[in-house]
Amino acid sequence: MLEFYNQSKPKARKDHVCEFCIQTIRKGEKYSYETGKYEGEMFVRKLCLVCKNILDKFCNESGDEEFSWDWITDWLCDLYCYDCEHGTKGKGDCEMQPQNCPLIRSKFETKECTQNANPAN
Ligand SMILES: [Zn+2]
Repeated sequence: MLEFYNQSKPKARKDHVCEFCIQTIRKGEKYSYETGKYEGEMFVRKLCLVCKNILDKFCNESGDEEFSWDWITDWLCDLYCYDCEHGTKGKGDCEMQPQNCPLIRSKFETKECTQNANPAN
């Protein structure tokens, strides 16, 4: 059970690493910062905005607050990699993790993510 939970989207004051896609969240970029307590354990989770959208969508569809990154990777594969000509589960031999695939990531990009990547615009 989730005992408490806070989420905010601060601007990074230094570089961080996204917990899911392992890409760098650069200083000055907005990112998702979550803290909470789950089954007695405190957690802190830092995610890039795209991965946060992926996580939100997954939790919405599963209707559950519980997840593991492996489940989300499988879920993304099922959704997109089967139909993708490059996908491991299709005929291709793509070795990319779905959370690092630009095609999949683009499906979870919101305006906020695009502006984030180009703060000058
Ligand atoms: Zn990420």
